[in-house]
Amino acid sequence: MNDSVDVIIVGGGMVGAALAAALGRQGLRVALVEADEAPAPIDDDRFDLRVSSLNLASQQLLESVGAWALIPAARRCPFRHIHAWDIEGHGETRFSAESIGLEDFGSFVENRVIRQALWACLEAMPNVECLCNASPINQIGGHERVLLELDNGRLLGASLLVGADGANSRVRERAGIQADVTDYHQRALIINVETTLPQQDVSWQRFTPEGPQAMLPLPGHHASLVWYGDPERVRAREAMDDETLKATIEREFPSRLGGLERVLGRASFPIKRQHARHYTASRVVLVGDAAHVVHPLAGQGLNLGLQDVITLGERLAYAHDHGKDLGGLAAIGRYALERRPQTLAMMAATETFHRVFTGGNGLRKAGAAGLALAERLPQAKQWMIRRALGI
Ligand SMILES: Cc1cc2nc3c(=O)[nH]c(=O)nc-3n(C[C@H](O)[C@H](O)[C@H](O)COP(=O)(O)OP(=O)(O)OC[C@H]3O[C@@H](n4cnc5c(N)ncnc54)[C@H](O)[C@@H]3O)c2cc1C
Repeated sequence: MNDSVDVIIVGGGMVGAALAAALGRQGLRVALVEADEAPAPIDDDRFDLRVSSLNLASQQLLESVGAWALIPAARRCPFRHIHAWDIEGHGETRFSAESIGLEDFGSFVENRVIRQALWACLEAMPNVECLCNASPINQIGGHERVLLELDNGRLLGASLLVGADGANSRVRERAGIQADVTDYHQRALIINVETTLPQQDVSWQRFTPEGPQAMLPLPGHHASLVWYGDPERVRAREAMDDETLKATIEREFPSRLGGLERVLGRASFPIKRQHARHYTASRVVLVGDAAHVVHPLAGQGLNLGLQDVITLGERLAYAHDHGKDLGGLAAIGRYALERRPQTLAMMAATETFHRVFTGGNGLRKAGAAGLALAERLPQAKQWMIRRALGI
């Protein structure tokens, strides 16, 4: 006998947990399978290294499931300005939320805070069962149901299996879906710092031939710096002691950063692009990094994943309300049709920024000219902002 639910979600990261919460609120019976422990309540005031920019559409999703209200104001940093320029100073473009009638563009929040808030919402949903420390060992796609065997001995049955298990998705692999991968031969060094200057309402990025340098503001005088570059150089910077790294940042980062009080932590991550060739297979659908990984320079990976949640959530709620098959093509096929072009557009945009600004001198000049031109075309700027905000 199997335990029967409407939807099984494998992966309780930010995207999987958001989908479980969105479906749970619509009254669907959901099983969320997560290999790790449930996230522990956060009782310290240090800022974690993994931080995401949540755009307005993502914020609205978190609001609608009740998670936004659980994120204390002291742990989110709304930002109102975005500046981008190239190191040679040929072009700079500035975006302001006010220019499109908004109070802010979104907020920077630690990943662990977002995830914890989502899991706290799930705890209050009797129709969502969270199975932690559990992983699938077998998935059997049937004509009417999909069966999932877990390593803890449970057997689950559902109309639909969702792979939200990240970039190395086993659900994707078991469903026979291939993914195309491009290694950028770059790493991102993330450094949490305390700055001398307050600069919490602006996020900026400077393009250099080695890769971008970005400042993501955090509450107080805190900031998350992201320094992309050649893997060997990134590893060497990562290995520096705090004082040497502080002095290196003060020398190499744009002067508008100002001085640093302290380096609080650092870690580095490889950068790749990855795209599943299909988002669906028989009774299986992929969301978040399981479906797509984009270069993080535009801070859009999680936002794309949460947009998947919004679209899939709407399709499944419609199917549920109208007595239709949740794993049928009408529901998941339309999701894939809607989401794939949007993801491809974001991938193309981030790819262009990466190639142009790490390319030869001529390409970089063209990129800088593009930034300068955008600065003189307010309507084009507004269009770009609205796309990035998901509105
Ligand atoms: C340096 C860097 C900076 C970034 N900055 C931003 C940003 O500013 N804004 C933004 O929008 N995005 C950003 N991103 C991207 C963002 O972090 C990811 O897109 C997002 O975390 C993906 O979430 P996910 O839930 O899809 O996957 P994951 O976070 O990978 O979660 C997958 C979950 O599945 C679980 N799991 C895996 N395998 C199994 C299994 N077999 N069984 C059960 N559970 C399993 C894992 O334990 C995990 O909980 C950045 C990425 C990087 C690398």
